[in-house]
Amino acid sequence: MLIVQKYGGTSVGTLERIQNVANRVAKARDEGKDLVVVVSAMSGETNKLIEYAHFFSKNPIKREMDILLSSGERVTAALLSIALNEMGYKAIALTGRQAGIKTDTAHTIARIESIDTSKIQEKIQDGNIVIVAGFQGINDKGEVTTLGRGGSDLSAVALAGALKADACEIYSDVDGVYTTDPRIEPKARKLDFISYDEMLELSSLGAKVLQNRSVELAKKMGVTIVAKSSFTDAPGTIISEAKEDKMEEVLVSGVALDKNQARITLRGVEDRPGIAAEIFKKLADENINIDMIIQNASEDKDGVKKTNLGFTVAQNQLEDAKNVIQNFNQEIGSVDFDENVAKVSIVGVGMKSHSGVAATAFEALAKNNINIEMISTSEIKISMIIDEKYGELAVRVLHDAYGLDKK
Ligand code: ADP
Ligand code: ASP
Ligand code: MG
Repeated sequence: MLIVQKYGGTSVGTLERIQNVANRVAKARDEGKDLVVVVSAMSGETNKLIEYAHFFSKNPIKREMDILLSSGERVTAALLSIALNEMGYKAIALTGRQAGIKTDTAHTIARIESIDTSKIQEKIQDGNIVIVAGFQGINDKGEVTTLGRGGSDLSAVALAGALKADACEIYSDVDGVYTTDPRIEPKARKLDFISYDEMLELSSLGAKVLQNRSVELAKKMGVTIVAKSSFTDAPGTIISEAKEDKMEEVLVSGVALDKNQARITLRGVEDRPGIAAEIFKKLADENINIDMIIQNASEDKDGVKKTNLGFTVAQNQLEDAKNVIQNFNQEIGSVDFDENVAKVSIVGVGMKSHSGVAATAFEALAKNNINIEMISTSEIKISMIIDEKYGELAVRVLHDAYGLDKK
C-alpha cells in the first residue's frame, strides 16, 4: 500500500514538530506502508523570504524568487529525512527536480505538466521513505519554479495521482474542512465529506485549508484527498466526487473569506468595442487573474462615450496589474486602487435548485450595516466584495444566517 502524506507549515513549524511528524511517519511505516511524504516550509518561512526580497525590490524578479522560495521546503525535507534516519528508518529527501516534477515556465505560479516518477519509485523499491520538498518543480529550461502559495498541497496531489497512490492525506493544524474558518467562527462545524466542486469553490474563495489548484487536480486525476490534523488522530474530511443523493439536501455548505483582494477602478474609459478585450488580454498575458468585473452603463462626454470599469485582483498581483494598466494611459481617464477590500462568499451545490439563497445573504449583511460593493454569482456560489474591516463579521453573520453550525 502506497500512501502520500503531506505536512503543512504549522505541522513542521518547529524542530520538535518535525520530530512529531517523523514519529507519525515512522508509525505508518511500521504498519507496512510505502510512503512518499511531501513537506512545506516551516510556518512563516516563505513569508519571511518574501519580506527579505521586498527589502531590495517592490517587484522582485520572479525567477530569482523561485530560487529563494524553494529553499524553505528543502530545509524541512532534509531535516525530516535526517530525523527519520536517526530513528533507524531508511529515508531520503528529494527536491522537486529530483522528484521529477516538471512544470511550465510561469515563475512563482507554475503549473505541473508531468511527473517522471522513476526516481521516486526506485527509491521506494530500495526500501526508502521518500521525502519530497513541496511547492516546487523544474521547467524545461532547467529553471526552478514554484507552484503558487500553498503549493505543497498541489505537489502532494500530483504525486498521489502520478504514483497511483492508495491515499493522499493532507495534514495541517485543523482536523478537516469546516463550514468556515474555525479561527473566525468558533461555531464552525467539521464536515465529514465535501465534494470536489464545493471544495474547489471554497478554496478558490479563500479557505486556505487546501490550495485550490490541488483540488482542481485531484478532481481531474480522481485522487481522493483526506484532510486531517497532524496533532490528533481525529478522522478527517474526505474530499471526493459528489454523492448524487446528498446534492439536494444542503443548501449552503460553507462560507469563505479572502482578504487578499484589491480593487482596481478605471474611470473614463473610452467605450468602444474591443477595449475591455485589449485590457484584459494584456493582464492575462502577464498571468494576472481577474476576478470580479463590473462595467457601468456608459455616459456621453463631449461626444465620446465613456464608462467606468471595476475589477478585482489578488493583492499580490496588484503591482503587476498597475504596470499593465500604465500602457493604457491614452484610453483611460484615471485609475484608482483599493487594497482594503475583502471577498466573502457562500458555497453550496444545493443553490443550483433553490431560489432566495442570495436574498438571505444580502439581508443578513444589510442588517449588520455591511455595504456590498460588488457581487458575482455562479451556480454554486455567491461572492461579495465588502470593506475589509467587516470581513470576519460578515463571515459570522452569514454562517449564522444559513444555520451552518447545525447539521
Ligand atoms: P498548512 O500550513 O498545513 O498548509 P494552512 O494554514 O494552509 O495549513 O491551512 C489550515 C488553516 O486553514 C487552518 O488553520 C484554518 O485557519 C484555515 N481555514 C480556512 N478556512 C477553513 C475551513 N473552511 N476549514 C478548515 N480550515 C480552514
Ligand atoms: N511554503 C509555501 C507557502 O507558504 C507552500 C506551502 O506551504 O504549501 O505558500
Ligand atoms: Mg496550506
